[in-house]
Amino acid sequence: MKKTVNIVLPTYNESLNLPKLYSELKKVTKSLNRQYVFGIIFVNDGSTDDTLKKLIKLSQTDSSVTVLNLSRNFGHQIAITAGMDYSEADATITMDADLQDPPAVCQKLISKWSEGFDIVYAKRNPRKVDSIFKRSTAGLFYYLINKMSDTPIPSNVGDFRLIDKKVLDQIKKFSEHQRFIRGLISYAGFNQTTVYYSRASRPNGKTNYSLKKMWRLAVDGITGFSVAPLRFISKLGYSVSLLSVMGIVYVVGLKIFDPAKEVPGWAFVMVSMFFLGGVQLIMLGVLGSYISRIYVETQNRPLYIVSSITNKKTRRLSN
Ligand code: UDP
Ligand code: MG
Repeated sequence: MKKTVNIVLPTYNESLNLPKLYSELKKVTKSLNRQYVFGIIFVNDGSTDDTLKKLIKLSQTDSSVTVLNLSRNFGHQIAITAGMDYSEADATITMDADLQDPPAVCQKLISKWSEGFDIVYAKRNPRKVDSIFKRSTAGLFYYLINKMSDTPIPSNVGDFRLIDKKVLDQIKKFSEHQRFIRGLISYAGFNQTTVYYSRASRPNGKTNYSLKKMWRLAVDGITGFSVAPLRFISKLGYSVSLLSVMGIVYVVGLKIFDPAKEVPGWAFVMVSMFFLGGVQLIMLGVLGSYISRIYVETQNRPLYIVSSITNKKTRRLSN
């Protein structure tokens, strides 16, 4: 039996890119259709142009095309999630619909998968097409998140990847709302590998990732995979308290060794300020550490993920 592969494309106002995208996707699926059965799942994320009309037309002429039409614009990460939730194929590829992720790379993804990898990331070669601003902010983001988080987040990897059904079945159990899918996939573990490609520039339309959305994704990434910012409060508290202790030593030392000299007024004010500030920050940090526990519990992620089990007979020995 042929294995099945679904290609999931979150689509928001990509009307102008659709014809070329579709023909390039078809080239790939045709070249591999001896070994695999392909499905193409377009998730229309509340487009305001005629994207939906074009998609529906495609699905009427091509039975391998499915259109998942969301009720409104939910954003890139949720659109991908909807497509992944829908997919039940042996492998699921997610990629952007604006031709920045070249469909031809799917062949590389599939060939790595056939070698036995469960997750294949498509990693961009140094981002020549992106602006210096995007490159440097992305670099800083990946540096920070990997410093703070226990889950390694691969840098320069977007949401262009292939995942095996067994990984997808696990990812479907993650129920958190503010999601950073790259992180979740990395968290899941399994056999991961990477193929490289050059990211093209967008032929039509403009990026839908405004600065605000990029910032929100970065914050979701960091707060979703690290409680370091909460712990930082305590650390700050301890350093401020240390300053106040130094101040106290200075004031007391002055009183003992040079009693004739008045303790300057600023010293008293500074010491009490640092002391109070420090105590407050430490207490906030204490609150933070409880909140971080509540937070991790409410994320309700699976505690562990079993990749495979050899010899399942032991489970029901009586049978
Ligand atoms: N997209 C989406 N919903 C949105 C914004 C974007 O489904 O609210 C899709 C968009 O059509 C594209 C992909 O997500 O296929 C990536 O978006 P974009 O090209 O704007 O991001 P960038 O490549 O600039 O990071
Ligand atoms: Mg893009």
